[in-house]
Amino acid sequence: MQSVIARVNDKIYRVAIYIRLSREDSKIGESESITNQRQFLMNWVETRGYELVGVYVDDGFSGTNFDRPGFQRMIKDIEDKKVDMVITKDMSRLGRDYIETGNYLEKYFPSKGVRYIAVTDDIDTAVNSSNNDMAPFKAVFNDMYAKDISKKIRTALRTKQEQGLWVGGCPPLGYMVDPEDKNHLVPDPDEDWIVKKIFDLALNGKTVYQIRTILTDENIPTRAIIKGKLNNRMSHATTSTSGIWGTKTVKSILTNQLYTGDMVQNRRTKVSYKIKKTVWNDKEDWIIVENTHESLVSKEDFEMVQTMLPKNSTRPTKKKYRLLDGLLYCYECNHKIGICNPRKSDGRTYIVCNYYRMNSKYNVCTSHGFNYDNLEEAIITTIRRLAVEFLNKIELERQSEKLKFKNPTEKIKNDLHKLQTKYENTLQNLDKIYIDKIEEKITEEMYNRVYQKMKIEIDNMKIEIDDLQNKLNNNEETNIEKFNCKKYLEEFISMKNITRDMMLKLIDKIYVHADKQIDIHFNFNELN
Ligand SMILES: [Zn+2]
Repeated sequence: MQSVIARVNDKIYRVAIYIRLSREDSKIGESESITNQRQFLMNWVETRGYELVGVYVDDGFSGTNFDRPGFQRMIKDIEDKKVDMVITKDMSRLGRDYIETGNYLEKYFPSKGVRYIAVTDDIDTAVNSSNNDMAPFKAVFNDMYAKDISKKIRTALRTKQEQGLWVGGCPPLGYMVDPEDKNHLVPDPDEDWIVKKIFDLALNGKTVYQIRTILTDENIPTRAIIKGKLNNRMSHATTSTSGIWGTKTVKSILTNQLYTGDMVQNRRTKVSYKIKKTVWNDKEDWIIVENTHESLVSKEDFEMVQTMLPKNSTRPTKKKYRLLDGLLYCYECNHKIGICNPRKSDGRTYIVCNYYRMNSKYNVCTSHGFNYDNLEEAIITTIRRLAVEFLNKIELERQSEKLKFKNPTEKIKNDLHKLQTKYENTLQNLDKIYIDKIEEKITEEMYNRVYQKMKIEIDNMKIEIDDLQNKLNNNEETNIEKFNCKKYLEEFISMKNITRDMMLKLIDKIYVHADKQIDIHFNFNELN
């Protein structure tokens, strides 16, 4: 290639621009877009007067392996000795797998006499700078940064936990962080008496349920009220501000060994550094250090309560599941609606809002009490009707598809493929025109005009491609959903006795209104 290029340094490099965009990146935003990377790197090459050999693009490829068409095309040009410099915007564009990235950086490129530059990371394999010593670390960094940091924090926390130091956030009710030492707990005078009272009641043989009732009746403040703050994590506002004690809270206090003066930590673990969710650890993995702080209950009393608790439980023994068990929710207060045992007088079964039942004397919610059997029958009838309608609709769709169109998914796939080809061609044309400009085959002005025009075209195509891709994804999801929905409804219709399992497959939630209106929320959007 004949080039008219001003010499900047001694050597005029023949440059390969490598651009990669993964699907994850495209969600982050415009800064990493193909167009931006291209523009940025072309400017860089131009200001240095280097020769541009080619732009190698991988759109929609993840950085975790190097099996990408654009990258492989570039490697071929390196092998053919057409290229002696590779540039990327930053190192993560080259790859995110640190072993393979390091291999290209430290072995492959040097062996081929190729200089590699990651522009924004300031990495240049030709310059012996401290940044290059960082390169392998940066590669690791791209891959493992988050994992690494989270592990380090965890290890540090664990060491502290093993020393019996408090490293949690807000201590449990009754304690506060020592103002003199943030890793030490001291009794909180606003709360410690409540914990003592709860243990006293339990030692006197009161059940968890009775204790929560006593606390509520005596207006013993809950923590939310003491701290005067709303606990946002609770979905139901009235629960946290009403001053009504929950059985779960009482039980968690009565079973927490921390109140005996022993530090108990590591009861829960985060699932992974990517996920906020926590899970309970096995008891063997709890980190317990004895006598690290003042106790609120003696070890003997605590042990006594542990042996009494199961007997104090008021839970009904083995329960027979009804068809709608676990599916009914109160529309007014969002708590579960329970199904009572059949009434002795007439054998009828009633439903009742659990929140109302547990707190009937505190005037929250209303009973929502009506006949369960009628409800069950009404719901089965409704589903049957919907099933017939749905299956008829599906059959009609299938027939009209046969008559008029091909499979709609196929049509979208075709359109998408055509558009993607056109898009790639346009990008290649743009590269050609750029090279024409450098070679002064066309004027700067003409280049700018064509560039502007093509850029609009490219952007529009990109929008259209994304649109079709979304349609395709949605279409496929819908098809799978329809398939399953049809399968279950056919089963449902053929069933003589509907099973609870079938109900759980079909239904997400059933909301019962105070005025007896019923909303069924299905697991399938097609039915909602
Ligand atoms: Zn309710």
